[in-house]
Amino acid sequence: MQTGFIGLGAMGIGMAKNVAKAGFLSAVYNRTTEKATALSSELGVWAFDSPQELATHTEVILMCVSADDDVLAMVNAVATTLKPGGIVVDMSTVSMATARQAEAILAERQISFLDAPVSGGVEGAKNGTLVMMLGGQAEVLDKAWPVLESMTARIVHMGACGSGQATKAVNQIMAAGINQAVCEALAFGQKQGLDMDQVVEVISGGAAGNWFLQHRGRTMTKTIFQPGFKLALHHKDLKICQDMAEQSQVNCELTAKTLTQYETLMEQGFGDEDISALYRLFNGHSAL
Ligand code: NAP
Repeated sequence: MQTGFIGLGAMGIGMAKNVAKAGFLSAVYNRTTEKATALSSELGVWAFDSPQELATHTEVILMCVSADDDVLAMVNAVATTLKPGGIVVDMSTVSMATARQAEAILAERQISFLDAPVSGGVEGAKNGTLVMMLGGQAEVLDKAWPVLESMTARIVHMGACGSGQATKAVNQIMAAGINQAVCEALAFGQKQGLDMDQVVEVISGGAAGNWFLQHRGRTMTKTIFQPGFKLALHHKDLKICQDMAEQSQVNCELTAKTLTQYETLMEQGFGDEDISALYRLFNGHSAL
């Protein structure tokens, strides 16, 4: 299956390498061309200058770009040249509405679409251990399965198009709460004069242990906030969650609180830092 990959960012680069390892990757495209040409030389795959060109040479297109408009721009571009019967799988985090719009655009050209957001961070992307929450037709998933399996530890088919993104929204609300809890608790611990590496180690093994604590706890207490997952991207996700919550009349206070705090940090220039930069508001390392 000739597979192309669009979007070689923090997530995409690791995913693309795992698809290559499994023998499926034939081409890459990235808006900033240097990333694509570097990966092309490393892996011996084509690097194309446009998504349209990539689509003429592939049957399956995987994409992982930033936000809703970026996904729709890439979908509109590949729709012009991907052959009927092709499959586009979007692993970006966007709204359900965008996923359904992408499906409709591609359906006009007899091209299938799967919304396939992932969880597991850049570590999961690199190690091929992502969890994928997938929306779309089961028979399309069956066809794409071997390619998707090369990047993931688990794929769960959630239902029709958009249900993958709805599930990811649940994940993103939970991630906001976990970020709040870990930052508050570790800032408290640091003020007690504890050895924070030891705190992270012991708590990670108990009932309060979690992925975020294990992977970001030690760095945040040393004021290192290298992404990871950019705070501005989680802000984009939580805006989607807030809209969905308003439409369904669910009270999401943690989402609202986190959005306000992220906006403060983004105004101070910390939007490209990891989401653990929320710690700045708990330990006083922000301009506040
Ligand atoms: P990132 O490092 O900022 O990379 C974004 C990628 O999208 C880059 O390759 C960028 O190209 C490309 N891009 C953005 N706008 C584009 C456009 N209009 N046209 C073409 N390409 C465009 O972000 P990331 O962390 O990899 O995240 C990518 C997606 O995965 C986001 O939706 C994010 O919410 C989601 N996600 C992230 C994580 C995480 O832990 N980082 C985990 C799960 C899901 P350039 O190189 O030219 O900028």
